[in-house]
Formats: sequence, structure tokens, C-alpha cells
Amino acid sequence: MSIKTITITGAAGQIGYQLAFRIASGQLLGTGEKMNLKLLEIPIALDALNGVAMELDDCAFPSLETITATDNASVAFQDCDYAFLVGAKPRGPGMERSDLLIENAGIFSIQGNAINKCANRNIKVLVVGNPANTNALITMSNAPDIDPKSFSAMMRLDHNRALAQLAEKTDSHVTSIKKLTVWGNHSTTQYPDIHHATINDKQAIDLVSLDWMKNTFIPNVQNRGAKIIQARGLSSAASAASAAIDHVRNWAFGSSDNDWISMAIPSDGSYGISEGIIFSFPVRCEKGDYEIISRLEMNKYSEDCLKISEAELLEERKAVEHLL
Ligand code: NDP
Repeated sequence: MSIKTITITGAAGQIGYQLAFRIASGQLLGTGEKMNLKLLEIPIALDALNGVAMELDDCAFPSLETITATDNASVAFQDCDYAFLVGAKPRGPGMERSDLLIENAGIFSIQGNAINKCANRNIKVLVVGNPANTNALITMSNAPDIDPKSFSAMMRLDHNRALAQLAEKTDSHVTSIKKLTVWGNHSTTQYPDIHHATINDKQAIDLVSLDWMKNTFIPNVQNRGAKIIQARGLSSAASAASAAIDHVRNWAFGSSDNDWISMAIPSDGSYGISEGIIFSFPVRCEKGDYEIISRLEMNKYSEDCLKISEAELLEERKAVEHLL
């Protein structure tokens, strides 16, 4: 049995702190599968990172072979099989969105280069750090020797949030809901779409009103992150880590046959979305690969929603063009 190498960036941050322990306990690969864990941080956070590594040691996880705590991207991505890119620069006071994009572009281009140079050629990369879709685009563009299909950004928390909202409204369990999609960018332009969703084999759209879908469900999912900050005084972390594991586990080991998941991946032009941008589509995963669910019927409302998110991603790409 081969030992997998898993890299987490920003591992001393809120999400990283949740993620590292869940992965080390076997929630990603399954208990019994051995792993080397590589944790990357910026120099100023290395003390905190060493504390995380000490706690991981103290858990005596049976699956954990080695822990590396480093501020060197080449060390962190050496032989990496699965990378969780969580660390990102948060928006500071007075910072414009374009400044945030450029600051993060610098971080993710270095990491893309290191992945290109050091990682396993079959690596799977999930970008969580915001603006996640465009950060994934920069990482991918800086790793030209790695298959573009190896790069993705996280929409799974949005997908899970949409499942939970719809389950609550229809008094059903999340597991009875299938074929829901969150399209587009991980931002407030994302489009949580229930037009193809079923609940216990009934069409979800017939169980709720259009008014609820447009004016309650969609804005609630789009703005759930802000609601969590309001309630907790901190941004979501445990749910983000949980979704990151759902994303990579399905990608690596497969998703259900009669369902699909939402993953932000390089657009191949499906549904008229510009090629190359990292856009969330409905996908089914099998044997370590994914396939976009094609030819879903889209009404004018849905098409318009997709176009709004696409326009935002095209604008983000323009802001970092020089780094691609
Ligand atoms: P968090 O761990 O809370 O968040 C990390 C990133 O995930 C942020 O960009 C955050 O975006 C994003 N994110 C994506 N989806 C979600 C979601 N649904 N809910 C919440 N966050 C989401 O941030 P911390 O500041 O606690 O930790 C970041 C760590 O990264 C720090 O320890 C820092 O030192 C490190 N870092 C590491 C780098 C590296 O390894 N090279 C580079 C830069 C930073 P948002 O900001 O929009 O909430």
C-alpha cells in the first residue's frame, strides 16, 4: 500500500486547524491508509504551525506517518498527491477587490510553480483560499506540466448549504435530495439551482414556490457566510473543512451514481461558459476523474444567473492577466 502525501497551506489558520486533524484521523483516505502530512505557513505563523504539529503528534493517529511543518513551498509540495490550498491573504482595511486579487495572485503563482516542480504528476489540487476560483486559475496557469483537470476550487460548502436550506424548507433529510447544483463563482454571484433537483424522487421545484426560490433560498445560500460571521464573530471554519474533505474524497474515490456534486473546474465551454475560467458545474466523479453533467435544460432565468457569475470571473481573470 502506497503512502499518500497530503499538503495543507495556511495550516495554522482557522480552517487549516480543523482540516489537519480530520484528515490525519482518516476522514479523507479512510482509516488504515497511511499518509505524510505537509503543512505550509508564512514565516510569521511558523510558531503557531509548530504548535499544530505538536498537537497532531499528541493525537497518536495510527494513519499518520510523518508531519512536516515548513514555510518553503517546494518542501511542502514535494511528492504531493492531494493539496488543500487554504492559506490566503484576507482583505485588509481600505483594500480594493483588485488589490486582493493581485496580492493573492502572488501567493498562488509561487505555489503553482512549486507544484509544477515538485508534486506527483497525478496530484489533485483543491483551492479554498479566496478568491478561490481565480486563485485556482493562477495556480493552474503556473503549473503548465500538470493536467489542468488536476485543479479545482471549492463550491462544496455552498452545495452543502443549499442542501441544508432545501431540506429544512421541505421537511426532508439532506440525503433525500439529489441533483442540486451551485453554479459559477464562490462569491455572491453563485447560482444555487434546484431546477433539476429531486426530493424523494419528486421534483424539488414543485415542492416550493418560485418566490421562495428566488427571494429566500438563493440569497440565503449566497449570503450564508456573512450570517455565520454575524452569529459566531468568526468566519465558518469547521463546515468549510468538512466540505473540503467531501470535495476531495468524492473526486478521488467517486460520487453517487444517481446524483451529482458541484465543483469549480476549468470550463471546457459547456453551457456556453468561456473556456479556461474556473467555474462551478454539476459533475459526477469516478476512478479519480470527473465529468461535467451535460445537456441539462436551462431556462432563461438560469442562463442569466450563469452569465452574471461568468462575467465576474472574466473580470477577475482580467485583473490578474499578467500572472497567467
Ligand atoms: P481561514 O482559515 O478562516 O480561511 C482561509 C481562507 O479560506 C480564506 O481565504 C477564506 O476566505 C477562505 N474560505 C473559503 N471558503 C470559505 C468559507 N466558506 N468560510 C470561511 N472561509 C472560507 O483564515 P485564517 O486567517 O484563520 O487562516 C489563514 C492562514 O493562512 C493564516 O494562518 C495565514 O498565516 C496563512 N497563509 C498562508 C500562506 C501560505 O501558506 N503561503 C499564504 C497566506 C496566508 P475569506 O478570507 O473570504 O473568509
